Amino acid sequence: MGDKTKEQLEMLDIKKVGDLLFHFPFRYDFLELKNLEDIEHEEVATIEGEVVSQPNVSFFGKKKSRLTCTIQVGVVAVKAVFFNQNFLKDKLIPGETVTLTGKWDMHRLQLTVHKYHPKSFDEAESIEPVYHTKGNLKVYQLKKLIKYALKSSLQEVEEILPEPYLQDYKLPVRQEAIRHLHQPDSQTSLKHARRRFIYEELFLFQLKMQYIRKENKAQSIGTQKSYSEEQVQTFIDALPFQLTQSQLRVLDEILNDLKYETRMNRLLQGDVGSGKTVIAAIALYATTQSGQQGALMVPTEILAEQHEDSLNDLFGDQLKIRLLTGSIKGKKREAILEELANGEVDLLVGTHALIQDDTIFKELGLVIIDEQHRFGVEQRKTLRDKGLTPDVLFMTATPIPRTLSITSFGDMDVSVIDELPEGRLPVETYWVKHHMTERIHQFLIDQIGKGQQAYVICPLIEESDQLDIQNAVEIYETLNQVMPDSIHVGLMHGRLSAQEKEDIMRQFAANEIQLLVSTTVIEVGVNVPNATTMVIYDAERFGLAQLHQLRGRVGRGSDQSYCILMADPKTENGQERMRVMSETTDGFELSEHDLQIRGPGDFFGKRQSGLPEFKVANIVDDYRALEVARQDAVRVMQEDRLENDPDYVKLKQLIESDPLIKERIFD
Ligand code: ADP
Ligand code: MG
Repeated sequence: MGDKTKEQLEMLDIKKVGDLLFHFPFRYDFLELKNLEDIEHEEVATIEGEVVSQPNVSFFGKKKSRLTCTIQVGVVAVKAVFFNQNFLKDKLIPGETVTLTGKWDMHRLQLTVHKYHPKSFDEAESIEPVYHTKGNLKVYQLKKLIKYALKSSLQEVEEILPEPYLQDYKLPVRQEAIRHLHQPDSQTSLKHARRRFIYEELFLFQLKMQYIRKENKAQSIGTQKSYSEEQVQTFIDALPFQLTQSQLRVLDEILNDLKYETRMNRLLQGDVGSGKTVIAAIALYATTQSGQQGALMVPTEILAEQHEDSLNDLFGDQLKIRLLTGSIKGKKREAILEELANGEVDLLVGTHALIQDDTIFKELGLVIIDEQHRFGVEQRKTLRDKGLTPDVLFMTATPIPRTLSITSFGDMDVSVIDELPEGRLPVETYWVKHHMTERIHQFLIDQIGKGQQAYVICPLIEESDQLDIQNAVEIYETLNQVMPDSIHVGLMHGRLSAQEKEDIMRQFAANEIQLLVSTTVIEVGVNVPNATTMVIYDAERFGLAQLHQLRGRVGRGSDQSYCILMADPKTENGQERMRVMSETTDGFELSEHDLQIRGPGDFFGKRQSGLPEFKVANIVDDYRALEVARQDAVRVMQEDRLENDPDYVKLKQLIESDPLIKERIFD
C-alpha cells in the first residue's frame, strides 16, 4: 500500500497486518426481509423479488444517472430506482432474483435502492459489519485490507486460551472467532465469535489486575504495626455508639492489613453517612499506638478542618493532631513541619499537599485518602518517589457499581460498608417544578421554625464560576428578603477565602446561620446533623452521583430530613435522574442507574476510570461474563498457573509485555 494509506491506518492504530485482523466492526446492521404490506411509508427496508423489465437509464446533470427497473414482489410490480449506479444496467437481468434495500414509497410503489444483492436473500449477506474509520480512509478500502489480511495471515494467529476454557464455555478458537467477527455467516456464528472475545478480553484484563495485585503484595514490604489490640478495643468501647456489623467487618479487614508486613492497598466504599470516618480514626489510632504516624488527606480545606475537629473530639489529648493546608504558611507551617519530622505529631490532616512538597515524616505508617476520586495511582507514585511505604487506604462515598469496582479496582482490595447506622430515617425526596418556589420558601420557614437548619444549593454553571457565584448571590438576596428576620441566611461559594468559608461553616455548625445558600463546595463530607432540609435549584443540571452526595449532607441526625429537587428537566435523561432520585436513597442502587445512564466510560470521567477500552466486551452488558472471568483469573493466580502450567505460556507473555503492568506495579 502507499504511504498515504499507511498514515491513515496508523491513525487507527493499525501498524501491522495483525492489527487489521483485530480491527473489529463496532456494530452490525442486520437486514431483515420484509413483506411489502408491513413496510411503512419512507421506511428503509429490504425486499426480494424478480427482475421483470429491462433496466432503463437516463442521465442528468454532469455525471448523474437514474436507473429504473421493475421488480415483481409477490403480486406487486415495484419500481426500483437506482441513482448513479448505471453500471448495474447489465446486471439486472429479467428473470433473476435480486435483494434490494432502500427507502419505500408506498404511494408510488417505488423503492429508492441503497444496496443491491445480485441473489436471493441469504443470512450471510444480511449481516452488515460496520467499521470505524478515520481521516480519508474509506470504509471500502479498510474492508478490502481486512479481507486481504484474513486471507494472508489469519492462519498465523495463535490461540491464547488453554483448551479447557474453550471446551467448558464452548468458545470458538481464536482464528475462527476473528473470521466470524469480520465475515459472519450467520447470526449464531457471530454470537459465538463475540462471546469468545468478550470472555478473552475480560479474562485477560482480570488476569492483569490479579497479577498486579499479587506482584504489589509480594514486593511491597511495608510497615508492620504492632499495637495493643486491647488498647484499640478500649478505644472502640469508649465510642458513643456501637459499630454496625458492616463497620466491624471492614475494620477487621483493615486492622488485619495493618498487622502484616505487606503494604495495604485498599479501597473502602461506603455510602454517605455510613460511618467511614470513625473507621479511619480507629485505623489511625492503631497506627499511632505502634509508634508510627498517620496522615489523613482530603480534597478541600473545609473538609480538612472538619476532620481535624472531629479527630480532636475523638482523641482528646491522647494524640497530637496537626492541620496542614495550602493556607497555612510561614512560621506556623515551619513549626508543624518540624514537629512532623521529629515525630511529635501523631496525625497530620490536610489537603493533597500533605504528602507532597517538603513534608517529611519521622515514620509514616498509614495514609488515608478520603473522598478522592483519583483513586490512588498518582498518590502511590508520589509516596514511592519519596521513598515511603506506608499502608494506604482510599475512602470513597461514591458507591461504585460492582462491575466497575472489580474492573477499575481489580488490583486493589475492596471493603464495603453496606448499611447505615441504626435509626437513620431515609431522606424524603421530592421533585417539584420551579413554579412552586413560594411553597418551598414556606416549607423552609416551617422547618427552620422547628429549630432545624437548611441548605439551598445553587447549580454549577460550568462555563463560568463568575456566573455561578452571581446566581448564588441572587438566590441568597432573594431568600434574605423572603425569610423572616429571625432566620439568618448565609452564603457560601468557591470564591470566598479559606478564612471566610471557615467562618461561615462555623456559624452554620453553631446554628447562628439557619439557612445556608451554597454552591456545590459543600458537596463532600460536611457534617451538620441539625440541618434537615436541602433544596436544590435546577437539580437537572447535576448528575446522579453529585445529587446523591449533596443529599448526603442531610439525614445525618435522628430527625426526618427532606430533599427537594427543583427541576424542569427538558431531556428524558434528566427526568429519569429526578425520578430515580425521588425513588431511592440507596447509593449502590443509584450508582447502578448512573452506570446505565452514563455508560462505563463516563462514570468516573474519562481520565479517572482506569478502564481499558474493550473492543467487544462491555462491562455493563456483559457483567455475567465479567464475574466469571474474574473468578477464573483469581483461581489462575491462586494455583500459580502462569508460572507452572505450560498451557498458560502465551497468556503469561501477553500479560508481562503489557505496559499497563509496569505502570501499576509500584514498590
Ligand atoms: P461518612 O464519612 O461515611 O459519610 P461519617 O463517618 O461522617 O460518615 O458518619 C456520619 C455520622 O454517623 C457521624 O456523625 C458519625 O459519628 C456517626 N456514626 C458513625 N458510625 C456510627 C454508628 N455505628 N452508630 C451511630 N452513629 C454512627
Ligand atoms: Mg466522610
